[in-house]
Amino acid sequence: MSGCVFCKIAAGEIPAKIIKKGDGILAFADLNPQAPTHLLIIPTIHIGSLNDAKDPQLLGTLLAFARDLAKEQKLDTRGYRVVVNTNPDGGQTVFHLHLHLLGGRPMEWPPG
Ligand code: 5GP
Ligand code: ZN
Repeated sequence: MSGCVFCKIAAGEIPAKIIKKGDGILAFADLNPQAPTHLLIIPTIHIGSLNDAKDPQLLGTLLAFARDLAKEQKLDTRGYRVVVNTNPDGGQTVFHLHLHLLGGRPMEWPPG
């Protein structure tokens, strides 16, 4: 989708530190990391938010991709957090579906 920053990253039109590529999935480093490891996992097709994700198989694939990536980043034993902010109250600022993978420090609960 024109104007979408994550579509532009998926198309290679703006730079990002790409960490892992899958079939229709991309993981890259967050520009403003909130933890020692902070990666974003996106579908390469434009889906605005979790509300717009009609394909449960894609959602499962994204989650499994995040889990595999966490293991590759050696976060699996100590632990990590996967977050999907959705719409304004959820704290979503980029309206292209993405999973945050956060790790490398203890996470707090409840989140802010
Ligand atoms: P949200 O607030 O929508 O859940 O998360 C959006 C995330 O995208 C934020 O953590 C923000 O730092 C990150 N972000 C925004 N613009 C860019 C960008 O151009 N490149 C990268 N790598 N991350 C971005
Ligand atoms: Zn997009």
